[in-house]
Amino acid sequence: MGIYPDSEEKAGEIFRLTVAFLAKHDLIINPVNFSLAYHYVSGEDPALNRRLDELLQAEGGWEDERIEALFRHYVCLCNEAVLRDLREELMDIVAHTLGTMIDLTGKTSIANERIQSHINTLAESNKIESVMKAVSSIISETRTLITETSQFETELLNSTEEVEKLREELSYARQEAMLDPLTGVLNRRGFDQALTMIIGEVEQQHIANFCLVLMDIDNFKEVNDNHGHILGDKVLRAVAELLTRHTKGKDACARFGGDEFAILLPDIGSNNAQNLAEYIRSVIEKIVLKRPTTGTVVGGISASMGVAAYRHGEAFEDFLNRCDEALYRSKTLGRNRVTLAD
Ligand code: GH3
Ligand code: MG
Repeated sequence: MGIYPDSEEKAGEIFRLTVAFLAKHDLIINPVNFSLAYHYVSGEDPALNRRLDELLQAEGGWEDERIEALFRHYVCLCNEAVLRDLREELMDIVAHTLGTMIDLTGKTSIANERIQSHINTLAESNKIESVMKAVSSIISETRTLITETSQFETELLNSTEEVEKLREELSYARQEAMLDPLTGVLNRRGFDQALTMIIGEVEQQHIANFCLVLMDIDNFKEVNDNHGHILGDKVLRAVAELLTRHTKGKDACARFGGDEFAILLPDIGSNNAQNLAEYIRSVIEKIVLKRPTTGTVVGGISASMGVAAYRHGEAFEDFLNRCDEALYRSKTLGRNRVTLAD
């Protein structure tokens, strides 16, 4: 079998290495160079490889005359039978190698047409020169395909990154849509989603308890009326900040709307929830309102709260209503207090 490999895979590998060898040494593709490079990478003739190594190392070693002499001495493809074998081998190799590449790139239509015409030329060639000319064209087509493949991969990589970026932006936008722009805590939509999720976890018995605190600032209209909306907004932000500071882990805070806030407390029993609410109420009571421009103390604020513990199987609305009723009772009982729902 000589230099001709006995498997398509091996043949494809030698073909690829030949292309790589020619590219590495910046050698033009002509019949002589291709044959020598092909023999070199097949490694079948150590004497040829030694001579070629010497020539490659020497300055200007790869000269036409010396190379042609080597070609005649070591390769000598003048024999018709050898030429026929070479042609058939090459056709197999080309078909196999390019077939694999085309599969990889998916660029079947363009590459197939161009390469098929070279393969046809190869099949019809009966002179070493024309075989090699067809091989040269196939090699240069292969190079183009390799470049196109890497461009294609880069494009693919870029578009993957784009998609990733878009996904991040989308997830950021989704998060934003759940937040109250004034205070940064969850808005009503975020609250509903968190409530659904926590109740789901209770129902699946991933967590044992769930308590909700609803809170409404007392006489907040007066704050706005007496000191303006800007101070009113500042109070809302301060309250949200305070709630965030005094909750942790899986707890969530939300602005329910207007001056009403909610604290979702998964895995907390009603006693602890009531204590936490009481503590927060006492901290709010200590907030001192100052006029933003002068710093003059203008008064304080307070909040009324309702606390409810979720009952297994209870409808969302019933749970919310129970908590709201408790809050309402705090209001009617004189405000600035915490009431536990029935
Ligand atoms: P109560 O003790 O019964 O709760 O009395 P209240 O005055 O607080 O009454 P209510 O809770 O019904 O009033 C809510 C007020 O909150 C009415 C509205 O002017 C004010 N408010 C709602 N949203 C905002 C806001 O984004 N910024 C400011 N500054 N005020 C708001
Ligand atoms: Mg209020």
